[in-house]
Amino acid sequence: MKAAPFSYRRAQTLEEALLAGGENARFLAGGQSLLPMMNLRVTWADTVVDLSTLEELRRCRREGDRAFIGAGVTHAMIEDVRIDDPSRGYLPHVAAGIAYRSVRNRGTLGGSLVHADPAADWPTALLALGAEVAVKGAGGERRMPLAEFQRGLMETALEEGEILTGVSVPVLSSRARWSYLKFCRKSGEFAHSIAAMVCDPERGLGEAVLGAAADKPRRLPRLSALLAAGERPGGTELTQAADDDVQEVTGLERASYPFHLHRTMILRAWARLKELA
Ligand SMILES: Cc1cc2nc3c(=O)[nH]c(=O)nc-3n(C[C@H](O)[C@H](O)[C@H](O)COP(=O)(O)OP(=O)(O)OC[C@H]3O[C@@H](n4cnc5c(N)ncnc54)[C@H](O)[C@@H]3O)c2cc1C
Repeated sequence: MKAAPFSYRRAQTLEEALLAGGENARFLAGGQSLLPMMNLRVTWADTVVDLSTLEELRRCRREGDRAFIGAGVTHAMIEDVRIDDPSRGYLPHVAAGIAYRSVRNRGTLGGSLVHADPAADWPTALLALGAEVAVKGAGGERRMPLAEFQRGLMETALEEGEILTGVSVPVLSSRARWSYLKFCRKSGEFAHSIAAMVCDPERGLGEAVLGAAADKPRRLPRLSALLAAGERPGGTELTQAADDDVQEVTGLERASYPFHLHRTMILRAWARLKELA
């Protein structure tokens, strides 16, 4: 199938893009999700406003002990460390596991967060990293935790005509530890389960997140509390916490295959985090 007819505008500046946005207009970044959805007529637009050449959306900078990464930065730029890596290898590791290279060459961090697929990599990985997002609209810029930005299945807090300009993440210290595991049946496929964990005592960070399991990535409360407290239990205490967390965030039957899959991913991710410590 082909997309329904639409007009195309390439924005030269962010201000121009903001003016062109609005009712029945869609922003185009890498086009790796928007264009297939338009071709399948799952979504449509009267006007597509192309953001892909806006240098303003590719700018990255330090903000104290945090780093700001522009929404237009591609997965491949992060994989190749063409931007400074504030995450001690975590972000490049995540980027390298997204789809395959041609998708990573065009797909962007911002496009992935706005698309808000619960099985996508960045929404889970960045939630575990304690990311905040920056959004610009006619009324100015606002920032919010990523946890508030993604509201549900392909639903975000973006208002009509607003543009996601980037994400702010903590610059991890040498005491930071991370673990990121995703399960796919075929390489390049969206995940069936993702377990992401990041802890950094110097940044007050301890987050365990499960992706591809609910309407949006879910923070695992018991395991996050253990990470934040610097505790590393094993045995029954750990498996009980993992089971209770999976049950709470997914509502799955404990005897079911998906429950077992998520639990296994979490326990493996936890074991890798311990090895690094
Ligand atoms: C075959 C294939 C396999 C894939 N596998 C994976 C995978 O394993 N893991 C994974 O995470 N992803 C995967 N993806 C998705 C890929 O990562 C996309 O690049 C990403 O989801 C969307 O990014 P994009 O830059 O292409 O956004 P686009 O497709 O251009 O846009 C997506 C949505 O975001 C909006 N948007 C984009 N940028 C902005 C902005 N700055 N402000 C406001 N709105 C904006 C658009 O209007 C649209 O609604 C796959 C895609 C394909 C085609």
